Amino acid sequence: MYDLIIKNAKLIDNSVTDIAIKHGKIVEIDKNIIATSNRVLDLQNQHYISAGWIDSHTHCFAHSPIYYDEPDLIGVESGVTAVVDAGSVGALDIDEFYDLAMQAKTHVYSFLNISKIGLVRQSELADMQDVDVPLFDQTLAKYPNFIIGIKVRMSRSVVGENGILPLIKAKEMQKKTGLPLMIHVGNNPPELDEIADLLTKGDIITHCFNGKPNQIFDKQNNLRDSIKRAIERGVILDIGHGGESFSFAVAERAKCLDVYPNTISSDIYSKNRLQGPVFSLANVMNKFISLGYSKTRIIDSVTKNAAQILHLNNKGEIAIGYDADLTIFDLKQQTVSLTDSEGEKRECHEQFVPLAAIVKNTTKNVTIIEIKQEGSKNELRISN
Ligand SMILES: [Zn+2]
Repeated sequence: MYDLIIKNAKLIDNSVTDIAIKHGKIVEIDKNIIATSNRVLDLQNQHYISAGWIDSHTHCFAHSPIYYDEPDLIGVESGVTAVVDAGSVGALDIDEFYDLAMQAKTHVYSFLNISKIGLVRQSELADMQDVDVPLFDQTLAKYPNFIIGIKVRMSRSVVGENGILPLIKAKEMQKKTGLPLMIHVGNNPPELDEIADLLTKGDIITHCFNGKPNQIFDKQNNLRDSIKRAIERGVILDIGHGGESFSFAVAERAKCLDVYPNTISSDIYSKNRLQGPVFSLANVMNKFISLGYSKTRIIDSVTKNAAQILHLNNKGEIAIGYDADLTIFDLKQQTVSLTDSEGEKRECHEQFVPLAAIVKNTTKNVTIIEIKQEGSKNELRISN
């Protein structure tokens, strides 16, 4: 007896399948699963399913003074089954964040800020006294399954007079752990070339398509050699849209040159969720539909690419033995106008609309969270 069978689910390549779940894992994938189950969810060849969406860059520590949000609002209630908080917290407030995160239905992970104070103010790396290596190491050891990476913000307002020094420090701190390092890039100094040359395989440049002067293109609109070399070394490009860090013009130029982000992420928190231009991970994904990306590429960048880059084993794919984290969605045909962080607009004729999130849980094996649709009632049929 299975815990849940999802019938007649459309995959992003438009093939149709049934998926069976037991004890929070995917246990069977077949055209027609006949076994009995406690629950059946029939998607009637109409609704799509993918591995659960993973947002690689969010801010979801509810007690943070500047960038705060609730994990489930940006997570399962938006079709996102796993969220990574990108450096909102440092060693001083990780305990409080962990307690809150464990209450969420969404899987929550932390990229620990190398500054022990986290984001209590914008300039967390202006005083190098706040980079406390022994405390950092102890904190990583305390939360091995929760802290899955390291965050360092490398822009003028953050590092003050310290220039490139925080990144040199972060690379040293990373060496002992093997964890991925996420680097926020923004206004200079430090210069992007100087940052990129220090990065190694698996390091993540977030805000990769920002439209600020220190962007990936030089004044002649050519891809910087430092970025070319970084990509060749296996450095990862992450979107991290946010309030200020995504430009359609940069994304279009990149696409012309066959430069694609490895992961699409939102950099969402309450302000840019409520007032835009982020709103949700789905809304950010839709911007890549307007750019002409294939829907498979978009889905891969929030599922299997994200899981690989974040070292989230058993997530990111619909495969036997993988966690039963799944996102059910529609592709809605309508024309809407979407705005980037520079106030530029593009038309989008088709949108990802999340309908439900399914997440592995520890007690009941799997939880289904249906998402309220404005103006129309959810058509999902779940029978017990
Ligand atoms: Zn951020």
